[in-house]
Amino acid sequence: MTTVLPTPVVPVASRELSDRWGRVADDLRISLIDKCNLRCTYCMPEDGMVWLKRNQLLTAAEAVRIADIGVRIFGVRDVRFTGGEPLVRHDLAEIIAGVRGLHPEVPISITTNGIGLDRRITTLVDAGLTRVNVSLDTVDRRAFADLTRRDRLPEVIRGLAAAKDAGLDPVKVNAVLMRGVNDQGAADLLAWCLERGYQLRFIEQMPLDADRTWARRNLVSGAEVRDRLSERFDLTPDPVPRGSAPAALWEVRPKGASARDTPLGKVGVIASVTESFCAACSRTRITADGKVRSCLFSREETDLLALLRSGASDEQVAGVWAGAMRLKPRAYGSDAVTLNDPEYVRPDRTMSAIGG
Ligand code: SAM
Ligand code: SF4
Repeated sequence: MTTVLPTPVVPVASRELSDRWGRVADDLRISLIDKCNLRCTYCMPEDGMVWLKRNQLLTAAEAVRIADIGVRIFGVRDVRFTGGEPLVRHDLAEIIAGVRGLHPEVPISITTNGIGLDRRITTLVDAGLTRVNVSLDTVDRRAFADLTRRDRLPEVIRGLAAAKDAGLDPVKVNAVLMRGVNDQGAADLLAWCLERGYQLRFIEQMPLDADRTWARRNLVSGAEVRDRLSERFDLTPDPVPRGSAPAALWEVRPKGASARDTPLGKVGVIASVTESFCAACSRTRITADGKVRSCLFSREETDLLALLRSGASDEQVAGVWAGAMRLKPRAYGSDAVTLNDPEYVRPDRTMSAIGG
């Protein structure tokens, strides 16, 4: 059971979302919906998900208000909308425009599966969208259908192309490798992305799948990804410091090229399981039903939605949010240091219901 923490109204001690481990969260992810039009095996079950009811979801105005509190009171520097699938929300452009109207400078991004993005991108960019991450695990149509349980690869490819044509830069692609399904195609996917100018990032599969089939022994680790890519390309560490970014970036050159040659592009490896970056985590997350999750793996949540709907002031909402973030666990939703530690217990919510 996920614990919903009581919502004490505490004064905002500092104008930051700081925790007991010395971290400050300035990267906000708001999930807008738990529903999705794909069923990726590492995320959702084939069927049987219980959806949030409409009145449980943040309204457009509530999502904008939370983003505004984050940016104005806590100095949030990045606002990302995710889900489930954020494009399933018909009012996504309205939400983006609302945040943009209040904060002309803040980067606003979405993480999306790309389906329907080609039809929406102009409206979203006009509303103020500045960045996009499109999830695409393979360019092999059969493997895509196996992984997502839907034969919709051409729509994702159209979405990506439209994001590039709309001038978004960089267009990032997120890929999860599943052993025996798409892991053999890692270098092909990289070549495909490099040709089109997309920045690919491989994400290690985390134990947040609804089917609960994740197993450490099947994990395609970041190290294995680098080895696979190195069979086709030369990878050298990106000279730009990583900061709190989850992705370790590598410059990619053709095999045998000199390190002085201009790289073909960069590739990211997000080794969330095997190379924990929790110590540098700067995320604060709000679920589609308005709960603060201080960590992706949290088993505790703090309700902001009821507070918003009870007429609380922005300062009161901020106080509760800051209190929740104060208790952010050290790593993996607990005091565990790795996902192998006995302290680690999976959260009840799965990835699409948290907002990845
Ligand atoms: N539907 C959108 C999408 O797929 O981009 C946004 C939500 S999805 C939950 C956000 C990201 O989480 C995607 O890039 C997806 O690949 C990733 N993801 C989902 N389940 C995962 C898991 N078990 N381990 C690692 N990444 C996962
Ligand atoms: Fe949907 Fe994204 Fe989860 Fe795939 S990863 S099922 S696209 S929410």
